Amino acid sequence: MRIVLVGPPGAGKGTQAAFLAKNLSIPHISTGDLFRANISQGTPLGRQAQEFMRAGQLVPDEVTIGMAIDRMSQPDAAKGFLLDGFPRNLAQAKALDEYLHGADLRLNAVLDLEAPEAEVVRRIAGRRICRNDSSHVFHVTGRPPKTAGVCDECGGELYQREDDSEETVRKRLEVYHSETEPITDFYKAQDLVVTIPALGKVGEVTQRAMDALADRSG
Ligand code: AMP
Repeated sequence: MRIVLVGPPGAGKGTQAAFLAKNLSIPHISTGDLFRANISQGTPLGRQAQEFMRAGQLVPDEVTIGMAIDRMSQPDAAKGFLLDGFPRNLAQAKALDEYLHGADLRLNAVLDLEAPEAEVVRRIAGRRICRNDSSHVFHVTGRPPKTAGVCDECGGELYQREDDSEETVRKRLEVYHSETEPITDFYKAQDLVVTIPALGKVGEVTQRAMDALADRSG
């Protein structure tokens, strides 16, 4: 299956993507994770992306589209993939369409995670992520680790993303509304959008998503 995950920052895209990709046996492709990996390795691409990420802005399309398509073209993505955080604007959505069309492929669904603004801000403010694996996500009150600052799953160090500060989150939400939300209409016109509420327990949301995707595999 080829799935695009959309939703505001803090809707739980990364968490859900990890579970869904595992259930569906497809790679989880997160452009945010790819950028962060490049930043920690000090690559030229990472240096290009860093200032935009710090400011809560989108990394320019010239950098992002090539990186995403390159990742989708890897052998492990031949049978499908789950895109998390890409596309994030109309130009990226059109570039993805073009790439898929050229390869005679198509998307099965665009899964839209819906969450109220107050909830996403609360989630992001308390979010702590494992340095070893970004799918190990905790929350200082909602899902506290057994030992503060230590990942329950692998013992890795937990940290707060630099762009999870309140000011940057506000900017990211603004960018989401102005740049990313319009892609939902683009995909609605292709009858690809399935919207699910992202509130409740992680497992419940995953189940809702699996149910919504069940009749989209053809
Ligand atoms: P995420 O981990 O998906 O929340 O992304 C973190 C940051 O990475 C975003 O705020 C952007 O600065 C950058 N980023 C991730 N994906 C994209 C994309 N598709 N286009 C442009 N910038 C992106």
